[in-house]
Amino acid sequence: MARAIIDVTWCDWHSQLPEKPRVEARNTRAYEDGSEVDLCHFCALLFDVVHPRRDEILPFLQPDVLTALRRSARDPSPLQRKKVTEPLPPARGHAEGNVKSAAAKTRAKKRKVSPAGVWREDVVQVRCPLPHRSSRPKEYWVDLRNRTAHAHGHKREDGTGHYGPDIDFELQPGVTFTHFCTEHQVCAEHGGYGFLSAASLDSHIKRAVGWKPASKAARDAAATKMAAKNS
Ligand SMILES: [Zn+2]
Ligand SMILES: [Zn+2]
Ligand SMILES: [Zn+2]
Repeated sequence: MARAIIDVTWCDWHSQLPEKPRVEARNTRAYEDGSEVDLCHFCALLFDVVHPRRDEILPFLQPDVLTALRRSARDPSPLQRKKVTEPLPPARGHAEGNVKSAAAKTRAKKRKVSPAGVWREDVVQVRCPLPHRSSRPKEYWVDLRNRTAHAHGHKREDGTGHYGPDIDFELQPGVTFTHFCTEHQVCAEHGGYGFLSAASLDSHIKRAVGWKPASKAARDAAATKMAAKNS
């Protein structure tokens, strides 16, 4: 009985795993001293991209970190629920180097459809009262989610960006803030920075690292102001 002799090289990295899976290796990679290993496509990618950054990457992949990340996920606000997360574009191989992926093309097209400042139906927005470039719409709408970053783009005289609560953003009609931050001085001074859910407020507090904590006086003043508004 003739036996076909197939010259297959197995992936050296896969072979180090406890189960020693045999995966065909079609790539060769070299260590700094010139010694070589044969790798499958997946492991070649790991070797090129992940291996050199392993000290940076490993902390992100610790089970407790992943669990904490999962737990920190916030509820989508009702109007944002429709939005579908776009898939990542496929990893680029050498051959398709300059060819734009379909996903990238779709993204470019989408961006054309809703340029900055334009009113959108699918997300909750606020209107920014500050001046923008003349090519932008007069009524300038910002995704509520991007409000703080947008505010930062408006510079004060000293060149630093505005804090979100500094700007008198107007929430779109039909939506009302239910949760208010008074943890930070700037949030309290403006009578509380508004959010649509406890989760969004939480995420603001987690992200606003470096914002000056509110003094007790500012916090009390904000509480009084909010109570007056609600009565
Ligand atoms: Zn492999
Ligand atoms: Zn603006
Ligand atoms: Zn705040």
